[in-house]
Amino acid sequence: MPSLRLILGDQLSRDLPTLRDVDAGDVVLMAEVQEEATYVPHHPQKITLVLAAMRHFAQELEEDDLDVRYVHLGDHGNSGSLTGEVGRALEAGHFDRIVLTEPGEWRLHQEVADWEASYGVPVEVRRDDRFVCSLERFRAWAKDRKQLRMEHFYREVRRDTGYLMEGDQPAGGEWNYDSENRKRLPKNERPPKRLRFEPDAVTQSVMKEVGNRFADHFGDLDGFSWGVTRAQALKALKHFIVDALPGFGDYQDFMSDDEDFLYHALISPYLNIGLLSPREVCDAAIAAYEDGKAPIHCVEGFVRQIIGWREFIRGVYWLYMPDYAETQALKATRPLPGFYWGEDTDMRCIAKTVATTRRNAYAHHIQRLMVTGNFALLAGIRPAEVEAWYLAVYADAFEWVELPNTHGMALFADGGVFASKPYAASGAYINRMSDYCAKCAFDPKQKTGAEACPFNFLYWDFLARNREVLADNPRMKLAYRNLDKQDPDLQKDMRGQAKKFLDEMEDGA
Ligand code: FAD
Ligand code: SF4
Repeated sequence: MPSLRLILGDQLSRDLPTLRDVDAGDVVLMAEVQEEATYVPHHPQKITLVLAAMRHFAQELEEDDLDVRYVHLGDHGNSGSLTGEVGRALEAGHFDRIVLTEPGEWRLHQEVADWEASYGVPVEVRRDDRFVCSLERFRAWAKDRKQLRMEHFYREVRRDTGYLMEGDQPAGGEWNYDSENRKRLPKNERPPKRLRFEPDAVTQSVMKEVGNRFADHFGDLDGFSWGVTRAQALKALKHFIVDALPGFGDYQDFMSDDEDFLYHALISPYLNIGLLSPREVCDAAIAAYEDGKAPIHCVEGFVRQIIGWREFIRGVYWLYMPDYAETQALKATRPLPGFYWGEDTDMRCIAKTVATTRRNAYAHHIQRLMVTGNFALLAGIRPAEVEAWYLAVYADAFEWVELPNTHGMALFADGGVFASKPYAASGAYINRMSDYCAKCAFDPKQKTGAEACPFNFLYWDFLARNREVLADNPRMKLAYRNLDKQDPDLQKDMRGQAKKFLDEMEDGA
């Protein structure tokens, strides 16, 4: 029974369910299509990463004697869509079925759902078992719970997997060492130099093509140095475990004016396209702890991101899509300002976060959440526009992980499906957790006036504007008490300044 086996750009794992029972006569289809490269204007480094990794993966399959039908972006006759390429492959050979692993995004899930009817060939969609927690397990956990909280889920996964467990107790005595992850980077501390991968001939030719075709997309391509093979991803993982993990926990939340990567893992693109598995990265971190090479608060912090946040976010996405993306709890309607795409701004935290995003297709979690995310939340930017931005600009952005992080965690547009309150913060937070403010044109201590940090008056305006939705939230009570204690004149001034700022921003958008 010859099968057409489709591999998507984020399914580059040799043990993918699609590839487990390949027979003689089967054809593996991999297709670079314009539709996938442009449904948002992806960062050129992201397109390069995916296409170069696909080409290397196809080569590896061919070396293993698999029959690969590989469609290049520029090939004559390329239909430009996955559906079109499946159709062309079916015309070119005789297949009794199409086999694939479930797509990671709702958009493609819908597209695939039509194939059986439109092509008259059975379509076998296999469960993606590359995650630690299956979607069935997540649904069972979430069922009948009034609130979904990552911490509760995470503890269950720790128990299920035995990761960092000593019997039925957490290793080191605590489940969560988050409170030890909030240190400022000392002035004389130098984070490790990060591993870069020189593009080989295959990657260079992708870079050239991407540079020509997508020249109008936001983002630099010149400095491209992401790994594009499993061997390189494994090297990146080893480098993180040895050189950065021991410092990961302490400075996890810090934002540096000079350092783009600090002690972060830089492995999310590899995890998300299938070059690394979540289990093996946890195993590597836990081995470092057991060998005495990394302290518990760093290893726990890392393992929590992987088996906690990453798996939890995926569960939320599939539990609530497609309605999830449409929720608008805070009725935010302003357009995304041009400085997200690199136009000048005097807000140093934003300029610096956008600059690393442009340079590296990367910003770390706190930059995404507490700078660009926080600003969009406070300013009331339309969620769909913010989400399209996040989906476009990061090398690791795929909707199943981007959307709940942006829509739910950063923007609170879902009304609190999993965040107990909005991550709204004034300039004081950014000042505490970064060294941006010292060099900024604005003053994080001033609430009004020409030098006042915009995050300050926007924060209080946000609270006042959203009182009806947020004031009853138990975790917002203190913020509203503080708002209500404020001098009415100060409040009036801050709201006036916020309105002027937002109107001017909108005029320039
Ligand atoms: P580290 O900080 O070193 O963390 C280690 C790993 O933990 C990451 O590689 C990642 O796989 C995982 N992780 C950590 N936090 C999360 C999280 N909240 N959700 C899922 N996985 C997590 N992550 C993506 O992979 N793709 C996205 O499109 C994405 N969009 C985001 C949008 C917003 C608004 C926010 C606030 C966060 C987003 N994240 C996203 C989560 C997080 O910012 C990135 O996973 C992380 O910055 C990747 O860099 P790193 O590998 O150096 O991670
Ligand atoms: Fe950002 Fe305000 Fe600090 Fe400037 S003062 S860097 S705008 S938080």
